[in-house]
Amino acid sequence: MNVPSNQHEARLRSEELRSQLNYHNYRYYVLDDPEVADAEYDELMNELRAIEARYPELITPDSPTQKTGAEPLAATFEVVDHKVPLLSLSNCFSDEELQAWYRRAMDRLDTGDARLVSEPKIDGLAMALVYENGQFVQGATRGDGAHGENVTANLRTIASIPKSLTGRVPERFEVRGEVYMSRSGFERMNAAIGDLNIEREREGRKPLPIYANPRNAAAGSVRQKDAQVTAARPLSMFVYQLGWVEGGTRPDSHHETLLWLKELGFPVNPEARLHETLDEAAARIRWWGDQRERIDYDIDGTVLKFDDIDSWASLGAVGREPRWATAFKFPPQQRTTKLRDIAVNVGRTGVLTPFAVLEPVVVGGATVSLATLHNEGDIRRKDIRVGDTVIVQRAGEVIPQVVAPVLSLRTGAEAEFTMPADCPSCGTAVSRDESEAAVYCPNLSCPTQQVRLLEHFASRGAMDIEGLGEKMAYLLFRAGLVRNIADVYDLAPERLAEVEDFRTKDGRLSKVAENLLTGIAKSKSRPLPNVLFALGIRHVGFETARVLGEQFGGLGAIVAADAEALQGVEGIGPVVARSIADWTARAENREVVERLIAAGVDPRMAPKAADEGGPLTGLTLVVTGRLEGMSRSEAEERIRTAGGKVGSAVSKATTALVAGAEAGSKLAKAEQLGVRVIDEETFVRLLAEGPGELFQTV
Ligand code: NAD
Repeated sequence: MNVPSNQHEARLRSEELRSQLNYHNYRYYVLDDPEVADAEYDELMNELRAIEARYPELITPDSPTQKTGAEPLAATFEVVDHKVPLLSLSNCFSDEELQAWYRRAMDRLDTGDARLVSEPKIDGLAMALVYENGQFVQGATRGDGAHGENVTANLRTIASIPKSLTGRVPERFEVRGEVYMSRSGFERMNAAIGDLNIEREREGRKPLPIYANPRNAAAGSVRQKDAQVTAARPLSMFVYQLGWVEGGTRPDSHHETLLWLKELGFPVNPEARLHETLDEAAARIRWWGDQRERIDYDIDGTVLKFDDIDSWASLGAVGREPRWATAFKFPPQQRTTKLRDIAVNVGRTGVLTPFAVLEPVVVGGATVSLATLHNEGDIRRKDIRVGDTVIVQRAGEVIPQVVAPVLSLRTGAEAEFTMPADCPSCGTAVSRDESEAAVYCPNLSCPTQQVRLLEHFASRGAMDIEGLGEKMAYLLFRAGLVRNIADVYDLAPERLAEVEDFRTKDGRLSKVAENLLTGIAKSKSRPLPNVLFALGIRHVGFETARVLGEQFGGLGAIVAADAEALQGVEGIGPVVARSIADWTARAENREVVERLIAAGVDPRMAPKAADEGGPLTGLTLVVTGRLEGMSRSEAEERIRTAGGKVGSAVSKATTALVAGAEAGSKLAKAEQLGVRVIDEETFVRLLAEGPGELFQTV
């Protein structure tokens, strides 16, 4: 951290930082429309903290380091006083910082009970709910900690907030918690806004902003003038604390409080845990780090609180942060950066897909300079323009994506994107498929298309040719050895050895080339659905390929089928049937298939009996970890389509656990229960062949 070495400079810089942070607080807490990602805000805040730590005389009472949130918006909402202030939380970003927090607290602790409770840190907005004689009477935002905004009417529309309580309760009390929006609800809501924007564009009206994340969407939805708007938004709440209590007693410990609140009917997160030691709590924090991507709501860390409520009073607070709690923060997943350009990729089926060229930015632990923009329609829906400041997101293994532009930073110099008229690879005029809003290059010999197709052909879910990845596909194409996918099976060692890339210094075939030939030979025995999928026909994913394989039994019969015969197959719609028929109508494609068959790539498949379900009928599978050839949701979809059931947790009823890389607790559970664990390769075979022989051999 760069702290100025003289007080004069430190004063100037701290004034600048305070003014910037106050501005961002206003945009975030009052307008619910931030201009920077949290990570950038946190950097400014940390810089100010470092300056104030070195020059304590520069701390002002109104410094953002001393305040919580922002003042309530009196013009829109009635302002309510919080009887007991709602504070923020201190942050830890490493084990060392966590241990330091714990040591500092332990030095002051006089109650002897050092147990901790861990809870997910829900990324939403804090709320204080007041109950009188068991009735919900008031709900307010945190505001500046001392005063909040009365949003009772809006909160009444949230189903998970109990409106009246049963059982014995104190006369008056306050509970605190977080209102949040689920990820799936957020996606649905943004998609609906996107569709509205297309209409608005047609009508020449300004687009509605796309929310950058579920947190901002939740905040924007709760802080609405009109409760009807809030009611239409997918909001929920988790209650995580008991505030003040009048006319009644409260449990002595935090974990008992959570149990009690749950009994009263409050939505309490079921994952709160009591820990005897800090080590135990730290293990739970690591578990949450892994869990983060798997749950349907955003969490930005794990909160630790001392369990003994008496210790809360004795530990007290420092500034805006209680000493008895802290938040272990996860690495941020969003940043803002400049969108330098929108470039276009040509895919294996010729479809042109735009992607973002960004000013490089570190997000989610990696430098991101390219990000997906999905398609032209998505750019339009989100109103993303070249030159915009955009929010970029990188979560887990997911490809970085541009979430939304920051509309308030527009200068007017930004340029709208239009698809190129010619293919950026071969220059052929592009065609537009209006029915799918896709633009594609119609030239089958377009070099980029061919290289991509080759790459796809060799990929794991397709022919699974080891050694034939992106780079090799390019080398083979560049050397003129492979012009289309059938050429792969004509690759002779002598021809390969003629090319510098594939021979050793003394002129022999390189190890890489040898491995490639072995991989190619092995691929001849791939099952029919994989081979069909490998051909790269538009709309023919693995599932469609399996259905076709079952119906026709072999490559020859499929190529011979016309659109009518294809459409007669259950599960094949008109668009897919048309696409296959168009593909097989081309002489060059039929020739490719004939050559594959001649080379020995001619798998057969037993036709499906009429009354039989899918190959996975009667099986329940659970998927965990990261798979190479498909996403987890894709894997689950395939299980369902194949007639199987998808389990969310491993139990004795689970037939098998499909475990990808970095599988965690589910794997441990399966091992503990003796449930069969299979890898991705076996899973793909299972989908194609059913359990039959396979399960006897794994
Ligand atoms: P915080 O969000 O880091 O932590 C405190 C809050 O955590 C509590 O008020 C509560 O709402 C929440 N919380 C969630 N689960 C909880 C649980 N189980 N127990 C207790 N509390 C729980 O602190 P803050 O002061 O509210 O806000 C700071 C955050 O807001 C930072 O991450 C910052 O980046 C972001 N921010 C961003 C901008 C911006 O412009 N992007 C501006 C201001 C603040």
